[in-house]
Amino acid sequence: MQKRILIVEDEPAIRDMVAFALRKDDYEPVAAGDGREAQAAIADRVPDLILLDWMLPGGSSGLELARRWRREALTRDIPIIMLTARGEENDRVGGLEAGVDDYVVKPFSARELLARIRAVLRRAREDDADGSVRVGALRIDGAAHRVFADVGGMEESVTIGPTEYRLLHFFMTHAERVYTRTQLLDHVWGGSVYVEERTVDVHIRRLRKALEPSSLDAMVQTVRGAGYRFSTAT
Ligand code: CA
Repeated sequence: MQKRILIVEDEPAIRDMVAFALRKDDYEPVAAGDGREAQAAIADRVPDLILLDWMLPGGSSGLELARRWRREALTRDIPIIMLTARGEENDRVGGLEAGVDDYVVKPFSARELLARIRAVLRRAREDDADGSVRVGALRIDGAAHRVFADVGGMEESVTIGPTEYRLLHFFMTHAERVYTRTQLLDHVWGGSVYVEERTVDVHIRRLRKALEPSSLDAMVQTVRGAGYRFSTAT
C-alpha cells in the first residue's frame, strides 16, 4: 500500500516540488498550508509520515505543532521530518524535545529528502502485536517478558529489572534515534509521574550493566548535550 505523507508548508513552490517528488517515488502526498489545514488532513486520515515546515503562518509554528502531535495518542507515533531554513537548524535539542525525528535544511534536493524519508520510515518499523522485537543481537519475548542475547550464535537469557525492561523495550522499538531524558521519562515512566531526570541516568546505568555480560552494553549510547540513543552501530 502507498505510504501517505503529509506536507505542511506555506510556500507553494516548495510544497509542489515535494509533492511531485513524492508522487514520482510512489508515495501519496497530502498538502497543508498551515496548522489548521494539517489538523484537518490528519483527522481525514492519519499519515505515515509528516514533513513539517519550521516557520508557518497563523497561530502555530512547526515546533508547536510537533509538540502537540507528540502529546496526542492519534499522532504520537507518526514520524516527523522538520524542514528548516538555514540558521534555524541550531535549535536541534528543542526539536528533539518536541519529538522531531530528523531535519532537512532548505534548500534541499528531492533526492536528499527522499533518502531521509526512507531512513525515517525504516526506523519507524512497528513491533509485533505481543511486544516481541528483535534488534541486532537482542531479542525481547513480549509474551514471556524476557530478554535474550545472541552471543556467538547461542541465545542467552538477560537478567533485567522491570524498569530496565521497559526502557530497553522502548529503545528497541525506537532504535537509531536520540531521546532526551524528558522524552524518556514521558515514554517509559509516563508523563503524569513525577520523576527526576537523573533517575533516567540511574536506569541507563543499570541497563548497561544488565547488557554487559553479553557485551552489548555499548548499544546504549550517550549523545552529549542531547540524551541517549539505542543503536546497533557501536
Ligand atoms: Ca515557511
